[in-house]
Amino acid sequence: MTASPADKEPLKTSNFLRQIIENDLAKGTYSGRKWGGSPGDAAHHAAGQPDQAKVRMRFPPEPNGYLHVGHAKSICLNFGLARDYGGVCHLRFDDTNPEKEDAEYVDSIKDSVQWLGFDWHNASEMNLYQASDYFDFMYRAAEYLIETGNAYVDEQSADEMRQNRGDFVKPGINSPFRARTSAENLARFREMRDGKLADGAAVLRAKLDMASPNINLRDPAIYRIRRAHHHNTGDTWCIYPMYAYAHPIEDALENITHSICTLEFEDQRPWYDWLLDKLAEGGLIASPHPRQYEFARLNLTYVLTSKRKLAQLVNEKRVSGWDDPRMPTIVGLRRRGYTPEAIQLFAERIGVTKSDSWIDYSTLEGALRDTLDPIAPRAMAVLDPVKLVLTNWDEVMGAGVLDDCSAPVHPHHPEQGKREFKIGKEVWIERTDYEETPPKGFFRLFPGNKVRLKYGHVIECTGATRGANGEITEVQAKLIPDTKSGTPGSDAIKVKGVITWVGVNDAVQAEVRLYDRLFTVEHPGTGDKDFLEELNAGSLKTVTAFVEPSLADVPAGTRFQFERHGYFVTDLKDHAAGKAVFNRVTGMKDSWAK
Ligand code: ATP
Ligand code: MG
Repeated sequence: MTASPADKEPLKTSNFLRQIIENDLAKGTYSGRKWGGSPGDAAHHAAGQPDQAKVRMRFPPEPNGYLHVGHAKSICLNFGLARDYGGVCHLRFDDTNPEKEDAEYVDSIKDSVQWLGFDWHNASEMNLYQASDYFDFMYRAAEYLIETGNAYVDEQSADEMRQNRGDFVKPGINSPFRARTSAENLARFREMRDGKLADGAAVLRAKLDMASPNINLRDPAIYRIRRAHHHNTGDTWCIYPMYAYAHPIEDALENITHSICTLEFEDQRPWYDWLLDKLAEGGLIASPHPRQYEFARLNLTYVLTSKRKLAQLVNEKRVSGWDDPRMPTIVGLRRRGYTPEAIQLFAERIGVTKSDSWIDYSTLEGALRDTLDPIAPRAMAVLDPVKLVLTNWDEVMGAGVLDDCSAPVHPHHPEQGKREFKIGKEVWIERTDYEETPPKGFFRLFPGNKVRLKYGHVIECTGATRGANGEITEVQAKLIPDTKSGTPGSDAIKVKGVITWVGVNDAVQAEVRLYDRLFTVEHPGTGDKDFLEELNAGSLKTVTAFVEPSLADVPAGTRFQFERHGYFVTDLKDHAAGKAVFNRVTGMKDSWAK
C-alpha cells in the first residue's frame, strides 16, 4: 500500500484542550455527576443516574445563517473531543434572541453537522436542544439573583447607562437605581415580565462592580424588554435574556463539562464563573458547574467567515446562493466537492491554539488532495479543446477504424479495474499543448516533435491550421505505428512529452466550472475597503470541455481526478443525465503558495 501524507501523521496531536480534559478525567472532576436524562436544574439531575458520558461538550450555533468553515472547525473540535474521551456532544440551537433567528436555518445546520460525520444521538440519548426551552429556568434564576441582592432593575436611559459604564481608563459610576431593595426590584422585574414597561424602559442588571477593570463585570445587563414574537415561545415573553446570561445557564442545565468558545469571550470567563457560582450556591444548578475555555477562531486566507457578510453576498446576488461552490459555507464546500474526511483532516492539522492567526487556504486544499488522491478515480478531460487530426490514420489503421485503449481507474488500485475508450483519426487535445515556436523546455506538440498520447500511441506533429483571427483551429500529426501503450515494443521510441486527450468519436461534452478564490485579497473584509470591492471578478469561468466516455452517466456528487488538471466533482444541483456539469474542486498542485 502506498502511504498518503495523511497516513504519516499521528492521528491525534495533543493540545491544551486535550490536556485539560485528560487532567479532569484523571482527577475525576466530573465523575460524581448525575444526569437526569435531559437538561434541567440541580434537583432534576440529582434524581437521575450517574452520568455515563465522561465529558459533555456542545456545539451551540445561533440559527441565523448557514454554517461556514469556521463552524466546521468548532464542530470537529467539540464532537471530536467528545468522541475521543467517551463523552457526548450536544447540538444546541442558541435561539434566545427573538429577532434574528429563523427556523429555515435549523435544518441546514443539522444537515451540515451530520454531513461532517457527527451525530448528537447515541444509543440512549438524543442530545438536540434549543436554548429557548430554558426561558422558564432563566427567569427563575433571575428572580433568585434579585432575591439574593445580586441583581437590580435599572431604569437609566441607554445613553446614561453607556456613559456611566466608564471605559478602559475610567471606572464606571453606580446607577441611581442600584440601591433599590430586593423587594422593589422583584416587583419591578415582574412588571417588566408582565408587559407594564415599554421596550427599552428598563433592564435587569447583575450587581458586581462598576469599578472593575474588566468592563464585562460592570453590572452586565441580563434581561431586556423586547416585544418580539419568538419562533418557539411565541408571545409568551416580552423580556428576553441577554446572550451573556443565557449561555452559561444553557451549559449548566445541559451538564456540559467543557464549554469551548472563541477567544473574544475570554474576558467573559470571570462573569461566566460568577453567575454559575451564584446559581450553584443557591442549589439551582448541579455542581460542579461547567467551565469555559477559549481557543482561536479560524481565519482562512481569501475567505470571509462572518455570517453577516456572507448573507450580504447571498442577498445581493454576488453568488448564486448559500451553496454557491465559491462560498465557505459547509453547503458550499460540499457542492464544490469537498469531503467530510478532508474537512476533518484539515481541522486536525490546524489544531487548536490560544492565539489568533490566519491559516493559509492551501492547508484546506492540501487536506482535500491528500484525502482524495488515494480514492478518486482517474479520468481524462480536455478543458480547452482543439482538434488534433492524425493525417495518416486511414493508411496505417484503416478508414473509420477505432482502436481500443484502456487505463487504470486508479494507478494504485489495480483491483478497481480499467476504464475503456477508443482512439480514432480525430482526438481533442488541450490548446496549450501546441506551440508553433516552442519555448525552452516545452516537450509537447510543435512541428517535428514526437509525443505520446497518454494510454495511446506515439505521434509526430506536422503542423497546425489557423483561423481568420490567427487562432489555431486544428493541429495535425502522424501516428507512428506499433507504439500503442501496453503493446510489445511500444516504448521503442522514446519521447519526452505525454499529453492527455479524448477521442472525438466517444468523448462526452461537459460544462466545466473553473472556480477560483472569491476574494482577491488575503484578508478580505479586514481593511478600510468595502469587502465587496475585494471580490474577484474572475472567480468563476465556465468552459465547454470534453471528458472521456466512462464519465457519461455518473451521479451528481461524484469526484474524479482529471489527469493533469486536478480534482473535479459532478455538480449536486445542475448535473443531470445528458447534461454533464463538473466543478473544479482544486488543481493538482498548490497554486496559492506565495
Ligand atoms: P455571528 O457571525 O452571528 O456572530 P458566530 O460565527 O459567532 O455568528 P454562532 O452560531 O454563534 O456563530 O457560532 C456557533 C459556534 O461556532 C460558536 O461556539 C463559535 O465559537 C463557533 N465559531 C464561529 N465562528 C468560528 C470560527 N471562525 N472559528 C472557530 N469557531 C467558530
Ligand atoms: Mg455568535
